[in-house]
Amino acid sequence: MEMPKPEPTDLTRPYWDALHEGHLVFQRCSCGNAWLPARTHCPDCLKPEPRWERASGRGRIVSWVVYHTAYHPAFADKLPYNVTLVQLAEGPRLLTNIVDPNEALAADAPVVLKIEWEGDTALARFRLDHIPA
Ligand SMILES: [Zn+2]
Repeated sequence: MEMPKPEPTDLTRPYWDALHEGHLVFQRCSCGNAWLPARTHCPDCLKPEPRWERASGRGRIVSWVVYHTAYHPAFADKLPYNVTLVQLAEGPRLLTNIVDPNEALAADAPVVLKIEWEGDTALARFRLDHIPA
């Protein structure tokens, strides 16, 4: 079964279009605050018209859960899978998946963007950034 697809709006389309082109973007306000997902106004100072900025693709694991039950049939063959909160180097946090084995996940572990395709949709997933010993 096919995964449920995102339904881009005028607000979120720049995010999805950037992933299709191989980049992760987030929003930043003129006050300096940066965030995901897309909003019309800065969640800190409420100014409108934030700009889009390209992320470095680097971040760290904040927390995660491992699902052992599929709550949608499309996820049944992915069990067990993780849903992970990653904080980008630039500050925004996003819910994502880490493509490495669930057992390898650790709090504060550095991760790197790994764009993966589900059908014709590009998704921002991450892999562990293995530091040479
Ligand atoms: Zn602001």
